[in-house]
Amino acid sequence: MGVHETDVVIVGAGLAGLSAGLHLHRAGFSCVVLEAGDEVGGRVRTDVVDGFRLDRGFQILNPAYPAIRRLVDVESLRLGKFWRAVRVADGDRRSLLGNPVDTPKALRDVVARRYLSVKDLAALGAFTVRVAGGPADTIVNGDDRTTAEELRRAGMSARAVDTVLRPFLSGVFLEADLVTSSRFFQLVWRSFLRSAPSLPALGMGELPRRLARSLPSAWVRTGTPVGEVGTGRVRTADGDVWNARAVVVATDGSTAARLVDGVPEPRWNSVTTWYFAPPESPLREPVIMIDARGGPILNTAVLSEVCPTYAPPGSALVSASMFASLDETEVRQALTRMYGTDASQWEPVGRYEIPHALPAMPAPHGIRREITFGDKIHVCGDHRDTSSLQGALASGGRAARAVIADLRS
Ligand SMILES: Cc1cc2nc3c(=O)[nH]c(=O)nc-3n(C[C@H](O)[C@H](O)[C@H](O)COP(=O)(O)OP(=O)(O)OC[C@H]3O[C@@H](n4cnc5c(N)ncnc54)[C@H](O)[C@@H]3O)c2cc1C
Repeated sequence: MGVHETDVVIVGAGLAGLSAGLHLHRAGFSCVVLEAGDEVGGRVRTDVVDGFRLDRGFQILNPAYPAIRRLVDVESLRLGKFWRAVRVADGDRRSLLGNPVDTPKALRDVVARRYLSVKDLAALGAFTVRVAGGPADTIVNGDDRTTAEELRRAGMSARAVDTVLRPFLSGVFLEADLVTSSRFFQLVWRSFLRSAPSLPALGMGELPRRLARSLPSAWVRTGTPVGEVGTGRVRTADGDVWNARAVVVATDGSTAARLVDGVPEPRWNSVTTWYFAPPESPLREPVIMIDARGGPILNTAVLSEVCPTYAPPGSALVSASMFASLDETEVRQALTRMYGTDASQWEPVGRYEIPHALPAMPAPHGIRREITFGDKIHVCGDHRDTSSLQGALASGGRAARAVIADLRS
């Protein structure tokens, strides 16, 4: 047991905590980042299993997120890019719908398959122009409603919503009723327009590792769970005490609610991701596939087509994400239907069940939420912004700016 001093103690080395640390480092303050886990990253970690890179739950990085661009050299992540399109599996058809600028053959399928009528295409075009033009603050400060209502007001038909938009957005929000804030939906849509969803060559976990490497190495202490937080003071589970001029709590929302009075606990959306190694790639395209019939698989992709580094040479890696905890046979049957090829013998390489994946964001959802809870105690994390990489990083920046203002006043 010991007593230590620093300017700022940050609790949690997920993206929010690392972002706060980096902002404070750039401003010249000394910090320590106390992390319960054995590595940095929180919900963004990658395991390497027999040469396969398994992200702890399928997720993607959008290089257009401004907070990412501010903190890391995005090019150095050696991103593999998805097409800005989706394959829509429907019986024995797999139609390609998407941005015809990137994927010209997508346009032919849009027209041929009639998931989207001419009226839907016009409605989607008008919505896209509205969301893409103008500053993000117009969305952040604009009216909020459920995404389902936003799509209805935009003029999308029930068929377009049920066969394409709901299956796609369910995989983004991790809820199928589309009750998620339309502000968040518009911000996500905007980021897809600006840049292709991507994966870092070394896995999603490379993003937090890069952030941590930009901090002085002695700052980040893994394997150090915090048990108590007070004004200017943090006690670790081992009984060490850190005295500081300010404390930033950057844990997940449930832990923050336990550690700090007044922080509301979020409800959580869950997901399970399976990984399989088929004998050869079942779809030679870097594209996300969804099911027009609504599941049970939310989305699947051949990740090694996006980043060959996700699988050993000559192998392929397929992800499949779903809400429910299906048994392996059901997952294989669904994959067989979606890819139109027998998945019964694919080698299983990993399965991640994540009950606390995303804090739910039912409308109305304020984007820049309160971060100051008590004297010199600031709370950041995706639950204080949006449930996303961008939200976590941006909230860390906001907490750091609040600390800097406090300490300089
Ligand atoms: C499966 C999945 C898919 C996703 N898909 C996407 C996507 O495609 N695009 C996107 O933008 N976002 C996605 N997200 C969301 C994004 O990953 C999160 O919003 C973001 O990583 C949250 O970061 P955070 O720092 O707020 O929280 P966390 O990552 O939860 O970090 C909190 C940290 O605090 C630590 N901690 C907790 N308790 C203590 C304690 N007592 N003492 C010390 N440390 C503690 C934890 O170990 C953790 O490291 C996805 C998330 C998941 C799980």
